Amino acid sequence: MPTSLATRLSYEALPGRVVFGAGALTQVTPEVELLGAERALLIDGLFDAGLVDRLERQLGERHAGTIGDVAQHVPAALTGGACERARELGADCLLALGGGSATGLAKAVALETGIPILAVPTTYAGSEMTPIWGITSEARKTTGRDLRVLPRTVVYDPELTLSLPPLATAASGMNAVAHCVEAMWTAAANPVTDAVAAEGITLLAAGLRGSVLEPRDLEARGTALRGAWLGGTALAVGGTGLHHKICHVLGGTFNLPHAEVHAIVLPWVVDHYREAAPTALARVARALDADDAVVGLRELGRDLGLDAGLADFGLRPADLELAADLAAAAAPDVPAPVTRDDVLGILETAMSNGKGVGNG
Ligand code: NAD
Repeated sequence: MPTSLATRLSYEALPGRVVFGAGALTQVTPEVELLGAERALLIDGLFDAGLVDRLERQLGERHAGTIGDVAQHVPAALTGGACERARELGADCLLALGGGSATGLAKAVALETGIPILAVPTTYAGSEMTPIWGITSEARKTTGRDLRVLPRTVVYDPELTLSLPPLATAASGMNAVAHCVEAMWTAAANPVTDAVAAEGITLLAAGLRGSVLEPRDLEARGTALRGAWLGGTALAVGGTGLHHKICHVLGGTFNLPHAEVHAIVLPWVVDHYREAAPTALARVARALDADDAVVGLRELGRDLGLDAGLADFGLRPADLELAADLAAAAAPDVPAPVTRDDVLGILETAMSNGKGVGNG
């Protein structure tokens, strides 16, 4: 985390085309054409048969086939079959429809085959904006960066998110908030990601509150989806830190739901970095229109109905030592080095989500 605005850094913008707006789904086939693709393999992570049918008909002769076998954290068991299917069908475009799980499977296929991705996100996870892939094998999630997995085109249609239930809205939205927060203190933080992340937090906080209150509010959905776009953009360049390492361990090794875990862990990681990253904490607080970043994040979580702790999702006290070992081993040194005991402290508070602590 740079302590001075004169600190040296380098920044490289990522390529990508975004089509945004209510009704943008109708633009999918022209966008497939624009990519020069003739055979799109639809990766369906939404399980909305009507929508899939609509998209298949819209694609017409450019529809190569559909895969519906999608799961959280991209199990390695699914990726081989998906690659084989893409090759069998002669696919030259992977059309990912759904949340981070559908985009994640498309990325695993792109990593192996080099086939370009067109993503149509239906949650706020933000994976569609990043060159980050993740595959889970034998209870360990491996992640990496590769430009082949960065979607070439993203079609954001807020109408597709109207059906997202409040819990999934809140959970994938807090994942996006976490992307914004962490991008502010990684080694790759820069003025572009700072600005993108701050605006992302503001849009997400307003859009998510509105969407959870009234799921059919298209304006709120559009606001949240713009925030998710920015969250993914910040993550793509800024990368991740301790918070994401903890979440990957809890998801990959203990099979906890990725997005809910983000909402629970984030305030306590932010609290941990109070002294190491005061500028980032002040920016987060400002973006949330709160006096304090931790208080603001906890209020947002509560407003979105995410008040549970890790214990509510089945994490046992006996699991904490292993979780702390794994997360501390993977944690970067910025904004400050962390020990295994630091992580254990964060996890212990997150078990009950800080009930009985400070502002709890
Ligand atoms: P998800 O894709 O698993 O979707 C959650 C559930 O919501 C699914 O059952 C899905 O069918 C349903 N759903 C999706 N859109 C819907 C809609 N509009 N209406 C109704 N139901 C809908 O969850 P997610 O939170 O989007 O993604 C989580 C995954 O994304 C994790 O595996 C995480 O690791 C990954 N991720 C990766 C990156 C990256 O850059 N690589 C970034 C963020 C998240």
